[in-house]
This record gives sequence, C-alpha cells and structure tokens, in this order.
Amino acid sequence: METAGKYVENEELREALKDRGLGTPATRAGIIERLIEVGYVKREKKNLVPTTKGVEVIKILPVETIKSPSMTGEWEYKLNLIERGKASPEEFLQQIAAFTVQTVNDLKKTERQEIRKGDEVIGKCPKCGSPVVRNKKGWGCSNWRNGCQFQIWDEICGKKLTQANAKQLLAKGKTNLIKGFVSKSGKKFNAVLELKDDTGKLSFKF
Ligand SMILES: [Zn+2]
Repeated sequence: METAGKYVENEELREALKDRGLGTPATRAGIIERLIEVGYVKREKKNLVPTTKGVEVIKILPVETIKSPSMTGEWEYKLNLIERGKASPEEFLQQIAAFTVQTVNDLKKTERQEIRKGDEVIGKCPKCGSPVVRNKKGWGCSNWRNGCQFQIWDEICGKKLTQANAKQLLAKGKTNLIKGFVSKSGKKFNAVLELKDDTGKLSFKF
C-alpha cells in the first residue's frame, strides 16, 4: 500500500502518491485486517495474497476507478493543490460527493452475484461465465439469482462425484475416467463425464 504509486501511470498522480501511498500508516493495519476478515485477502507466511473471492469481487465490480490507486493519486494531488491554496476545498468536496453518488448508483446496477465468505470458487460457469461454487446439491453457478441454472450434481448414477471431478469438468470440459457408476438396471459401468459447453448439460462418454 505504501508503494501503490508505482502502479499509477500518470506522472503527476504518481508523484502525489510517492511519499504517501494508499491510506495512512494509522489506517493501513485496520484496512488489511478488514480485508482478511471479509475473506478478500489471506496471510501466507509473510505475504498477503488475494483469495479467489477477492479476485472474483474485483472482476465483478463495475467501477474501475475504485479498483485503481490512480483515484487516490488524484485525490492526493488535489489535496496538495488545496494545501498550497491553488484549489478550492469546496469544489473538491463537491466532486467527492458526486463521485460517491455515481459509484453507489453504478454498484446498485450490478447484477447481484452470490459469492459468500468461504465459498470456494471451483471454476467458471460454461453458460454465463460467472463463478461456480459449492452448494447443497453439488456445485452451481453463483449467478442463479439472475436465472442461470447451471448445476453439477454431486451424485450421478449412484456415484458421488468429487470436487476434483467438478473442477476438471469446468476446466477441461471432461473428467478422467470415473469408475463405479450404476445404471438403472443395476449394472456397474465406467465412463468419462463430458460437459456440453453451450447447454451446460453433462453426458457420458465410454
Ligand atoms: Zn452461470
């Protein structure tokens, strides 16, 4: 966060962030703890790494400016100008207020996608591209509120599928050979499960 300025392309804005970064030393710790608490970031040894949920949230967020350190750079730049009497604080506040209203409106328009804390995203929905997550009956599209019904049942023909099977299906369109399905007539069989991309339906391949 201290060095966020290096991700900013505009030189003036980068300069404004140079000695400040995102947040202040006093607020950074709190921001990081909050990110961990809501499950966007996790600790790995000495590093902070984004969780799948964190990555997905960034992808889904429609407001580019709030994902970029440029915005803070711009604000810092304007605060510098105000400090030096070269810009009006009232105007800055008005801009912030307008930005906030616009951002909230944009966020309200975002299609609601259900990614809850702790949900492990196992792949992309073949029908709509949204994250697929574990649910009660197997693995399903997180975009179900908007009508996507893609679902991989966790039991097919008497065989419990594993999460690895489901991941493979989404990544490669088919699984390895799965042994131990049972047909309606009670006969055991082995097969590869295949995903029909456009319909999201599964079929056996022998
Ligand atoms: Zn979907």
